[in-house]
Amino acid sequence: MNEQARVCPHCKTALKKWRCPPESSWEVEYLFVCFNDDCPYFIHGWEWMRKQYNQNISYRYKVDPVTNDAGPLPVWSKDALKDSIIE
Ligand SMILES: [Zn+2]
Repeated sequence: MNEQARVCPHCKTALKKWRCPPESSWEVEYLFVCFNDDCPYFIHGWEWMRKQYNQNISYRYKVDPVTNDAGPLPVWSKDALKDSIIE
């Protein structure tokens, strides 16, 4: 698998490796996640989730390194999940 420069299509920031929690259902060790707090995807997520589900959460852009599937990774605050960033 190609490890070089993966970037977020929404903000062009380099994605970070994020270690999946052991209790999660991911079958991979880590995901590539955009942890840019100014990412439009992340910022828009707050508004969208509030409108759609009346919930105060958002999501960050993530890519599965094995399947290359991209999608949302739910977060409940700006700092949520950041302690599991590997690099
Ligand atoms: Zn981004």
